[in-house]
Amino acid sequence: MRIGAHVDPTDPLDAAVGREAETVQFFLSDPQGWKSPEPRADAEQLRAADIDVFIHAPYVINVATLNNRIRIPSRKLLVAHATAAATVGAKGLIVHGGHVNSGDDIAVGIDNWRKTFAYAAESGGFATPVLIENTAGGGNAVARRFDVLARLWDAVGEYGVGFCLDTCHAHAGGEDLLDIVDRVRAITGRIDLIHANDSKDGFDSGRDRHDNLGHGKIDPELVVAVVRAAGAPVVVETPGGTEGQAADIAFLRDRVGR
Ligand SMILES: [Zn+2]
Repeated sequence: MRIGAHVDPTDPLDAAVGREAETVQFFLSDPQGWKSPEPRADAEQLRAADIDVFIHAPYVINVATLNNRIRIPSRKLLVAHATAAATVGAKGLIVHGGHVNSGDDIAVGIDNWRKTFAYAAESGGFATPVLIENTAGGGNAVARRFDVLARLWDAVGEYGVGFCLDTCHAHAGGEDLLDIVDRVRAITGRIDLIHANDSKDGFDSGRDRHDNLGHGKIDPELVVAVVRAAGAPVVVETPGGTEGQAADIAFLRDRVGR
């Protein structure tokens, strides 16, 4: 099982060495901005490295929303990131499930996801596999509660969509980590990546604040059990820089085994 971290995009390979990481995840552009990614000087090294690379799409992307002025640019930006992620050999492009506004019909949001894949399919599909990630907050989220996630997968499953399970988001979002891997697989049939994070906040708090493993409100053995059951690559998105993340990676490696 390959374990690593979300790192600064400046020099992901150097960051991986410092953490003894076998996977890295990073942003290709400002996560709060709408700019398309720039070509990377280290693209060839990233492709050649014995490191599994994952790219996280910007947080501003929300392809579910009924607001055209957000949805249409979101769709285009997602395609641009999938194309750019392929140049660094990324195994997946992680994007949050998104949400509709209060009062809007979640069924339309789900259909907007389907249309996103249909739109990409017109030009040959996404250049990098898209992994939809579960989220922690909001009452109108598409990938927070698994009853809605199941409706989403009914709509997009045919496009070979991947899934990224975040343990902090599940806990804070109100989905019990016990047996969660089985419950996800019953819906999606797959887990492509685990985001192994502790949560500073309580169960179903709806808050998204990551913590180092064993330092927050989640029993670290539950995170270990999720990682073991999923058998997927792992990325910690935890604080504390090189030292904090290296400790989280070492903890998982020690408990889960290589
Ligand atoms: Zn995450």
